[in-house]
Amino acid sequence: MQIIADLHTHTIVSHHAYSTLEEMVAGAARANLAAIAITDHGPKMPDGANSWHFCSMWIVPRVIQSVAVLRGGEANIVSYDGEIDLSPADLDFLDLTIASLHSYAIQPGSAEQNTAVYQKMLRHPKIDILGHPTDPPFTFDYESVVKTAAETGKALELNSHALRKNPDAIGRYKELALLCKKYRVWMTVSSDAHVSYEVGYFGPIPDLLDELEVPASLIVNASRENLNRFLKERGKNIPEI
Ligand SMILES: [Zn+2]
Ligand SMILES: [Zn+2]
Repeated sequence: MQIIADLHTHTIVSHHAYSTLEEMVAGAARANLAAIAITDHGPKMPDGANSWHFCSMWIVPRVIQSVAVLRGGEANIVSYDGEIDLSPADLDFLDLTIASLHSYAIQPGSAEQNTAVYQKMLRHPKIDILGHPTDPPFTFDYESVVKTAAETGKALELNSHALRKNPDAIGRYKELALLCKKYRVWMTVSSDAHVSYEVGYFGPIPDLLDELEVPASLIVNASRENLNRFLKERGKNIPEI
């Protein structure tokens, strides 16, 4: 499986990441990617960006060094009622919004609470992708969430950074990918890079998808065609990649 875009990356705007936007784009160019999404953390992360970062992203060029640059954000889910830490005004400036549960921004809930809040996020009109749903300690009912993603046309992420930190999680990635295959749900394969050298690093995930015979047509960033289709389906008014 070929991956042509990295849709989850952090710059030095998040202090626990180490590269500038320009360096991250250079990393994408080195990895021969067609596109990169810059998705820094929302303000509720201890070192997250403030609101101004997101509403100023319109100044970032659409293409740098022949790499399409998507203006993105990784919103923190901050309550089990489905509140996130990016305002509707901030979200309007973004091409791609990931919603994630991080234990720095919310107390881990029960499996029922996590399932319900993931379903709320998938129904949120401005959220495009659920970030690293396989991450502990946020257990949830995979099948219910995958079915909601099927209804709403949203994507679930397979995150190589999280897998690198916790290789034993591979079984959960497999389970999620097989359910997405069964219900024909979009997935993204992302590095969640925190340094330019990690951009385009997808670890064992592309091979795993091949092994599981997941069709490339379900992977948002397996081709320009898929990526453009996903962005169009999500109503994004941006130039073709
Ligand atoms: Zn995250
Ligand atoms: Zn991240």
